[in-house]
Formats: sequence, structure tokens, C-alpha cells
Amino acid sequence: MRTDLGFKRIATEEAFGTKELMKAYRDLLARKGSDDIGFNSLMGYYLTNPSERTRAVAARLEDLGQRRIDDMDATGIAMQILSITSPGVQVFGADQAVGLARSANDELAAAIAAHPTRYAGLAAIAPQNPQAAAKELERAVTKLGLKGAIVNSHTQGEYLDDPKFGDILAAAEALDVPIYIHPNTPSNAMIKPFMERGLDGAVFGFAVETGLHALRLVVSGAFDRFPRLKIVLGHLGEGLPYWLFRIDFMHGGSVRSGRYASQPKLKYAASHYLRENFYYTTSGMAWTPPIRYVQDVMGMDRLMYAMDYPYQFVPEEVNVTDELPIAYEDLKAFYQTNAERVFKL
Ligand code: MN
Repeated sequence: MRTDLGFKRIATEEAFGTKELMKAYRDLLARKGSDDIGFNSLMGYYLTNPSERTRAVAARLEDLGQRRIDDMDATGIAMQILSITSPGVQVFGADQAVGLARSANDELAAAIAAHPTRYAGLAAIAPQNPQAAAKELERAVTKLGLKGAIVNSHTQGEYLDDPKFGDILAAAEALDVPIYIHPNTPSNAMIKPFMERGLDGAVFGFAVETGLHALRLVVSGAFDRFPRLKIVLGHLGEGLPYWLFRIDFMHGGSVRSGRYASQPKLKYAASHYLRENFYYTTSGMAWTPPIRYVQDVMGMDRLMYAMDYPYQFVPEEVNVTDELPIAYEDLKAFYQTNAERVFKL
């Protein structure tokens, strides 16, 4: 791995879980699982499967100390932007979730204080209580120095375009911090055909569910109501950048014809919001052709590096992005300065 690049590699979608959260997950699984099929599949795997990989992931999730710093050093990562692992606190009842988010943010802030040049973080919030979530985001940003919020996609089948979550979007816009919409397993309403072939997780279900979530936000008119709201998507945009042309053609047509009462007329084409309100990261997608595609269609200032540690911790992958066929200044923006600007590091 090169050490002479002359800029920092900032990894923007790096997961952790507090001991309290992991215990709450284990308790939920021990009660023969939650009602959430995707949670049982995802955390049942990472917390109870005995394979070497899952045990390594589970151990690394809880470590915000020397092991994580050593792993970062071994892969040339100068800084991790930490966020609570999927599904965050969103699988719990509202009161438990509000408490877990608050203590996770306090622990995250303490870890950042111990390693201020190596860590930054995003706030966990509990959309189950939108008003408390907005307040916690404000506390996390103004009191704890966190740089935005992580929302692990749907909350028990509900999406951020639901008007009930408006306070969360308003708080992020007012604080001028991004919301990172991280994948979750598909909700109970859509997971059955994924489960039948083991496609519910990061292999594909994550992207389908999270791409849907982002597109719901766009067509709901959320960005006409909150024009300065910033959303970050991982995994090169969960497929959406590839769909821009068809989304504009078909969405534009259905709005003009009044096909759906639930689709308001927007100020701009759908792709406009995906270009102006969204940022993208490369988490889990160390592959040159789609990285270059997203840089071409979204702009060099829209794409940031992410590793997806510890779920995807393959030291050699950083060589792929080091060798992107782009100008030095663009590579520096990709690894460092875009993240510094978007997250105000
Ligand atoms: Mn991730």
C-alpha cells in the first residue's frame, strides 16, 4: 500500500457497535428473534454464526481502541468516520431506542476525544420518536461535535419521506449536516423473495431497499421542502446513478399525466436532486468501472472513499482506488477534501 500519496485517506462509512447495543441485539435474538425478519437474518448471522469471518467482524465492531487503529494503519486509513452498525437502534421500541442512541453517541464522542486525529463520527438517532431524534441530532452536533446523522434505512417499514419524520430532515438542514442513509435489510413487507435465495443482505437486498428509500425521498418532494438537505449514500449510490435517465423519463411522464396522487409535481427533474442534494461513497465497491461512472455522471466533487470496515476489511482493496485513472487533484478530492467539505472535518 502506498504511503507517499501526499494526502489523507478518509474512510466515510465505517461501523461500530457499543457493548450495550450488541447486548441488546443478543437479547433480542435470544428471545427467539424480533419480529423483524431481516434483523434476525443479519444479526443472527453476525452474532451467532461460529465462522472465522463473523467472529472477526463482531469483535472488531465493538473495538474503538488500539485494534481498530492498528487495522487503519495496516490499510493506510488516516481517519474513519464512524457510524453505528446497521440496523442501529431502529429495530427496538421507541423508548429503548432513544436511550441506546444517546449512550452510543456519548461513547462515540469519548472515542473521538481519545483519538481526535483518527476518528470523526455520525450520530445515531431513533426515528421511532422523530422529535427526540431531531433533538438528539442537535445535541450530538452542537454538544458532542458529531458531523451528521446515520439512518439505517427503513425504520420498521417506514421511510424518511413520511411527513412524520419531517423534524429530522428539518434539523439536519438547519444544522447544515448530512444524513447518511445506510442500508438495512428489506422490511418484512418486501423481504420474502430475497430470503428465499439468501439475497436479503449486502449481496443485493441492502441496495434494493436503500435505493428505494432514497428515491422515495426524491419523488416525495422532500428536497423542495428542504432544499439544503444533504444525503449521503454508500455503495456508489445503491444503483441509482445508473438509473438516472429512465427515472427522469418515467417519473416525469407519470407526474405530467397525474397518474399517482402520491407523486407531487417537483421543481426539477428527479435526477437534479440526486446530483445536487446527494453525495456518494464507494463502500464495499472497490471496482474501477462503476467508480469512474459515478464520478462522470455525478461529478468529481460528489464521490468519497469508504471501506465499510469491519464488514469489508480487505487491505489490498485500497490499491484499486489508489490507482484510479484520474488526475492527482481528483484523487485527493476523492480520498480527502470532499469528505472534509461534506462532513466539515
Ligand atoms: Mn456499511
